[in-house]
Amino acid sequence: MTSTDVAIVGTGPNGLAAGVVLARAGLRVELHEAADTIGGGLRTAPLFDSGVVHDLCSAVHPMAAASPFFRAFDLAARGVELLCPEISYAHPLDGGRAALAHRSLDRTCADLGADGPAWRRLMEPLLERSEAVVDLVLSGQRALPRDPAAALLLARRVALHGSRFGAARFRGEAAPALLTGVAAHAVGRLPSLASAAVAMLLGHLAHGTGWPLPRGGSGRIAQALAEDITAHGGVFHTGHHVRDLAELGGARAVLLDTGPKGFLALAGDRLPRGYARALERFRYGPGAAKVDFLVSEPIPWADPAVGRAGTVHLGGSHAETVRQETANARGVRTGRPFVLLVDPAVADPGRALPGKRPVWAYAHVPNGDPTDPYELVRARIEQYAPGFSDTVLAHRSVPAAAYEAYNPNYVGGDIGAGAMTLYQSLARPVPRLDPYRTPLPGVFLCSAATPPGPSVHGMSGYLAALSTLRHCFGTCAVPDLASGSTRLAFGTEKSPRNIHGGAK
Ligand SMILES: Cc1cc2nc3c(=O)[nH]c(=O)nc-3n(C[C@H](O)[C@H](O)[C@H](O)COP(=O)(O)OP(=O)(O)OC[C@H]3O[C@@H](n4cnc5c(N)ncnc54)[C@H](O)[C@@H]3O)c2cc1C
Repeated sequence: MTSTDVAIVGTGPNGLAAGVVLARAGLRVELHEAADTIGGGLRTAPLFDSGVVHDLCSAVHPMAAASPFFRAFDLAARGVELLCPEISYAHPLDGGRAALAHRSLDRTCADLGADGPAWRRLMEPLLERSEAVVDLVLSGQRALPRDPAAALLLARRVALHGSRFGAARFRGEAAPALLTGVAAHAVGRLPSLASAAVAMLLGHLAHGTGWPLPRGGSGRIAQALAEDITAHGGVFHTGHHVRDLAELGGARAVLLDTGPKGFLALAGDRLPRGYARALERFRYGPGAAKVDFLVSEPIPWADPAVGRAGTVHLGGSHAETVRQETANARGVRTGRPFVLLVDPAVADPGRALPGKRPVWAYAHVPNGDPTDPYELVRARIEQYAPGFSDTVLAHRSVPAAAYEAYNPNYVGGDIGAGAMTLYQSLARPVPRLDPYRTPLPGVFLCSAATPPGPSVHGMSGYLAALSTLRHCFGTCAVPDLASGSTRLAFGTEKSPRNIHGGAK
């Protein structure tokens, strides 16, 4: 261990992104993962049939398509194909109808009829400045916006749609339901400023980069990141649950892809009392309770157009979704929770075998809920797809309370690594100028519990790695992340010198 420059605990997308940056900086990086396989929220595995794989956590990747880290890393150049369904997301309504967010903004607006112009006014300006909007939301949220016009566009929309006046901008039922379904990705009270920011970010990307799925499953993203780390000398230790920072004693810097609870356990009594208390005050959000299905045929949606969508929001009308999500955020279990469903074979037909296809779905439930979600989720799908139950060949349920055993970062089943309130969106996990740095010298946080928060964007890991380079290795140079590049932060292209001053 003494020869290690950097030890990273956890190999979720953020731990891996940090590993990519630091290994490319010429540092000797070791990654420790509690589970037997790497990837954290990026694992894909067969569950029922060896030929059909299921995404155990994340499935849909608008952020991996758009984030600054992944734009630089360039998944396509690594052979990861991001496949976009023609309809980014659908939102079934009563009476066998559904609202549809096509990849094409024009088609979406045409479908929305009288609300088409309002939808266009909402989304088109964001699309025109998409890169700046994405960079602003997926930043460390400590610097002034590079594009003030984009910031203003976003702020006005967030203020309106984060209030109860937002839905009043629409006349029909479809448009407010569509937007509220996207806001519900924030898993919390609705409406709120934090959920409106999520709605604007994901909502406009549905008509831009799209909501893609990696061919073959989310694990392909983890694999591409891991291959890059290994190619730059990084070493993985799986099946190693790190219980104390002392286990990593020889490393000059330690990055923790863990939440506040995990950090408190690893640090023991080393943390200053004030900082430890602030971590203890960190609030976790509602839980997710997931069901993976193996089904015999495509889902028999009442509105067949829903079958062309990669992602489906099962929440009913705007008012119903607001009621469910707000009750859930208060810890009240609802009989008909919001359910997010992904049908991977819509975008990636190779995910299905004759008579067998995977379906991924989770319900929003109160934090720590121990209930088996199968009946809740099955009934919700059946409501909009009569006959679905007859197609189920096998299923696997993961109650919210069980998620923490699978991954210690998902406390009580909170897959967002912390409640998405406005305060916690900006001050994750505690209010500090550099949220990645901790009071322990050389110890950094890099998980989704730091800005910019949950999702597979790699930005927490990327920004934590830059902070590590600055504070532990005395450089502000940013390693080139492009595939094929052999540039080191501390030398020239294909140069012989690395951070140790020796030949590479
Ligand atoms: C069911 C589900 C569905 C989701 N759907 C999507 C989606 O479709 N799109 C999307 O963008 N995001 C989705 N997410 C969220 C996304 O997966 C997370 O935001 C993201 O994975 C967070 O990345 P991370 O690197 O911070 O942590 P994680 O991915 O949680 O990884 C942390 C890793 O650290 C390991 N670890 C923790 N403590 C220790 C320790 N002490 N010692 C060793 N190892 C440790 C864990 O085992 C884990 O492997 C979903 C999450 C879940 C659970």
